[in-house]
Amino acid sequence: MNQSKRYTITAALPYTNGPVHIGHLAGVYVPADIYTRYLRLKQKDVIYICGSDEHGVPITLRAKKEGVTPQQIVDKYHAIIKKSFQEFGISFDNYSRTSAEIHHKTASEFFKKLYDDGKFIEETSEQFYDKEENQFLADRFIIGTCPKCGFEESYGDQCESCGTSHNATDLIKPKSAITGNTPSLKETKHWYLPLDKYETWLREWIVVGHKNDWKPNVLGQVKSWLDDGLRPRAVTRDLDWGIPVPVKDAEGKVLYVWFDAPIGYISSTKEWAKRENKNWEPYWKDKDTKLIHFIGKDNIVFHAIIFPAMLKAEGSYI
Ligand SMILES: [Zn+2]
Repeated sequence: MNQSKRYTITAALPYTNGPVHIGHLAGVYVPADIYTRYLRLKQKDVIYICGSDEHGVPITLRAKKEGVTPQQIVDKYHAIIKKSFQEFGISFDNYSRTSAEIHHKTASEFFKKLYDDGKFIEETSEQFYDKEENQFLADRFIIGTCPKCGFEESYGDQCESCGTSHNATDLIKPKSAITGNTPSLKETKHWYLPLDKYETWLREWIVVGHKNDWKPNVLGQVKSWLDDGLRPRAVTRDLDWGIPVPVKDAEGKVLYVWFDAPIGYISSTKEWAKRENKNWEPYWKDKDTKLIHFIGKDNIVFHAIIFPAMLKAEGSYI
């Protein structure tokens, strides 16, 4: 392996609808901490970056259930999680949160750059809608029978029983997770990142270029996704909690939590650099920097396929 000039180490952003538990620490934060401390002892230029992931449907559902605002939910769990990490001695160089202004600005500008460069596909489709709540039902707002395994409580985006990811409209007997009503279909416009356009580059980068750097299970999973063929993926949602889509005629739409969350690594780096009076850019844009993600296995697709495709589309990142 080449000698790297500097290291950017990220640990998966914990989701703020509950506390962190010992499994998270053992699986992600402690190994990343050990690796970072090792590099520091070797006098390497290294930063260890993390923060709270505070958008997405589960937080809004939890807020509804508890009769509070989503902001109150994330404020509560961000404080609990941050304190747990401190007390456990996890030595982040920065721990931020995706509700921070610097993150909203960074994610918003990232989307706008891709939009202006024509990297998205704009598409109108029919999505489930709850008339009683006047709300579109994305992802976890919808529950129904999994078309693959028959599990009756499958979510709109993924079945927790068999692990298959699907579209909400694929569910059999769908119902609203808020009211229990049978939803109707309504047209809505969204922006999609055409992952299929990055398939050749991803294959070259992962399967050829970095063949020996990946763990066998990661390489195997990524190869099977590439072999199945990648499809365009929506990067926006009809939701009132998150980062507003920064283009015209996008009222009531926010960035998909899985689009904004990995950008949280970048905004957390910016926050660190500002405080330390450093330049953040070499940590993300210099070819002599090694970027290392510590994640759980549920997050492989986002870190090995989607985030790299986003960075490639933006154009100035390693
Ligand atoms: Zn299933």
